[in-house]
Amino acid sequence: MNPVTSSAIEALKNIKKLQVQTGVSLAEFSNWKVGGRATVLVRPTSVEETLALRKFISENQLPSLVIGNTTNLLFTDEDIDAVFIKIGSDFSKVELDGNIITAQAGVWAPKLARFAMQGGLAGIEHTCGIPGTLGGLVVMNGGSQRKGIGDNITYVKTAGTEGKIKKYNNEQCQFGYRSSIFQELDEVILEVGLELAPTISKKTMHAEMLSILRSRSKKFPRKLPNCGSVFVSNPAMYKQYGPPGKVIEESGLKGLNIGGAQISPEHANFIVNIGSATAKDILELINMMREEVYEKTGYLMEVEPKHVNACGEIKRI
Ligand SMILES: Cc1cc2nc3c(=O)[nH]c(=O)nc-3n(C[C@H](O)[C@H](O)[C@H](O)COP(=O)(O)OP(=O)(O)OC[C@H]3O[C@@H](n4cnc5c(N)ncnc54)[C@H](O)[C@@H]3O)c2cc1C
Repeated sequence: MNPVTSSAIEALKNIKKLQVQTGVSLAEFSNWKVGGRATVLVRPTSVEETLALRKFISENQLPSLVIGNTTNLLFTDEDIDAVFIKIGSDFSKVELDGNIITAQAGVWAPKLARFAMQGGLAGIEHTCGIPGTLGGLVVMNGGSQRKGIGDNITYVKTAGTEGKIKKYNNEQCQFGYRSSIFQELDEVILEVGLELAPTISKKTMHAEMLSILRSRSKKFPRKLPNCGSVFVSNPAMYKQYGPPGKVIEESGLKGLNIGGAQISPEHANFIVNIGSATAKDILELINMMREEVYEKTGYLMEVEPKHVNACGEIKRI
């Protein structure tokens, strides 16, 4: 990979209407409010622009990564020399045809859940409180109540590294618990097809969504920056000892902090930034939680958020 030079940045500015920002502070921009500076962050505004961008990145062998709302990403404290491709509100078109929804990847997940409910369609109401984009949700096969968005997906369209559109059917997406093939690929998700079921009662569904939101706002920390659940719930551990939050709490760790990172006093499976946390603080806290729980239960918990290193590579923690 080549470094992202100032001439590469100038060339990026010439790609159609691409919006280009340089030296972006991830400590200000990211959801966990942690990280160094991103050399360059671009916001494509159309499919054509995204394809041209992918082609340019590939021809110039530039390091790059795709981001949505950064609610599942921990950025290193070092500066990150890569092209950040942000898929957001310019990709938020949603269409309904019978019980099929076609949605662009930048749509806000709670907005999509509401759109489905208003269209009288059931299946994705469990995603109504997840503060990310549809693209991020697909990559993570995110959801709640042990469900995943993948259950309702018929296809995913991406911009491949060569700047060409690719299409994956449900089977090709290889959805697993909080995982999908897209965690292994370097492609930009553009559009998603979802098949839902007609709901028996819109009113009941609305009430169910409100109850999900109420229960989340009671359980989860809302004020301080965080990236949701730190550890994925393992069914075998759950059966023997309970969910990660309970096990961490019973290990006496709730409320503990390293630097500016704290195990939330509200929910022990959340790490909150109490002011000036660094990625190093968060990683140390994660390792400590994982070791304590391993010693107590014999289960090595899997971390849900991914780490972004100084080369812009997204890795498991
Ligand atoms: C308060 C809180 C509560 C949460 N609750 C839940 C929950 O109940 N269930 C759950 O599953 N998650 C939950 N999360 C985690 C997170 O919101 C989800 O994983 C979400 O789907 C991530 O979306 P994002 O847009 O923020 O993605 P990002 O964090 O920006 O990215 C996540 C991954 O997706 C990739 N990506 C993003 N967009 C694209 C795209 N268009 N094309 C290709 N790759 C892309 C990134 O490269 C990265 O690998 C929670 C987070 C918070 C802060």
